[in-house]
Amino acid sequence: MQWVHSQNVRNSLTEIRIVYDNEAKEGFRGQWGFACLVGKNTLFDTGGDLDTLLFNMMRFEVNLALIDTIVLSHSHGDHIGGIGIVDMLGDVRVFVPRSFSSRFKKKLSSRPNVDLVEVSVTTTISDGIFTTGELGQFTKEQALVLETSRGSVVITGCSHPGLENILRFAAQFDEVYGVVGGFHGFNRLESLENISLVVPCHCTRRKRAILALYPETSKVCAAGCRFAI
Ligand SMILES: [Zn+2]
Ligand SMILES: [Zn+2]
Repeated sequence: MQWVHSQNVRNSLTEIRIVYDNEAKEGFRGQWGFACLVGKNTLFDTGGDLDTLLFNMMRFEVNLALIDTIVLSHSHGDHIGGIGIVDMLGDVRVFVPRSFSSRFKKKLSSRPNVDLVEVSVTTTISDGIFTTGELGQFTKEQALVLETSRGSVVITGCSHPGLENILRFAAQFDEVYGVVGGFHGFNRLESLENISLVVPCHCTRRKRAILALYPETSKVCAAGCRFAI
């Protein structure tokens, strides 16, 4: 495995801001899809449409000039539909699963400011952030892992490879402290028992059950929410 453990575990607070979700807080727009901003410079997924993404980012007063990294979890339209945002950014590295269509990759890499990185295995994104690499067999998907002094925080798009599989994969590197994102058909709620921060977003089918079972550790997700890690 091409994996170099980062020595720079994040000790300072990182904020995850939900900029696109099926649900929205007052003043933000909700649409089917998912995107979040990690710190000031890393955008994970882009939601389904650029207008909604930009609207929510403006509400957060995001400085687009600071975004230099985009990670796309998987190729579904509700995660890549806002990728046109690259035209509004400066130089940006875009990490996509290698299995993305060559048409999509070609189009993206033709943009002069885009440095396209095709991911297959676990890869460092920046200090204290890595991607799991492509997981799953049918819809291949990568998840983001933030290294913190309390353990790792996993960010998922839809969890098509299965949330448990993603968490098990991440746990090889460090104890999982938190998980944020779409959990899709995830059903074995007991596997979230030892996780200190659980934020079921987007397509999570059993959102209510998770929130009810873990009232102390789980949080409601919606565009407009922010989580300090
Ligand atoms: Zn989705
Ligand atoms: Zn999906």
